[in-house]
Amino acid sequence: MIDPWKIHTLVLDVDDTLFPERDFVLGGFAAAGKWLRAQLGVDGFSATATRLFEAGLRGRIFDESLDAMDVPISPELVGELVVAYRSHQPTLTLFPDAARLLSRAVGRVNVALLTDGFEAVQRNKIEALALDPRIELRVITDALGGRNFWKPCPEGFRLVMRRYPGESGGYVYVGDNPRKDFLGPRALGWRTVRIKREGGEHSTYVANPDEEADIVVTDLTELSQHFGWEENGR
Ligand SMILES: [Mg+2]
Repeated sequence: MIDPWKIHTLVLDVDDTLFPERDFVLGGFAAAGKWLRAQLGVDGFSATATRLFEAGLRGRIFDESLDAMDVPISPELVGELVVAYRSHQPTLTLFPDAARLLSRAVGRVNVALLTDGFEAVQRNKIEALALDPRIELRVITDALGGRNFWKPCPEGFRLVMRRYPGESGGYVYVGDNPRKDFLGPRALGWRTVRIKREGGEHSTYVANPDEEADIVVTDLTELSQHFGWEENGR
């Protein structure tokens, strides 16, 4: 039997917690590829970048893709591709278990989002997921003052506490990346949950004890049990 947590405020990471970030990435490659075709008449960027991404490359995909396509690389060209990637209007869908958790949580406890990433990009994602009016408090850490405010900085979590005051143990943060997600909320006395999905970007990462969450789940609907919410009902 699980002794339920007395939770009053549920705070959720966005990328790879509520939706597959891969969908945003592939949509971004398609937008960048479209731009390149229109500008230089070169085809195949999206397919090349996708192949490199699926092979596990991170960080240098734009340069490496152009290189593989024999397109001369310049910082300006890469910059334009990055702009096309970041500014595209994504089509995104919540993970089914995330959608179920949200429909149980909204109206029952305070619900907030807390996400890193460039402000405009994160806004587009939140809007594409139709979370914009549904979740009132949406903390994009970047908007608090740039990269220094990204996780593990605790400032975004403090903002949630000011907006929804309560017992520190009644706040829960759900995220997928132990390298940065849980250090801030843990320091403030929050409970933490790691969602570890099959094939997830950080799912094979072995966290050390001070960065790991209190519990690890493979499906967010498991949380209803931990929170003492009935499975039937809503
Ligand atoms: Mg994440």
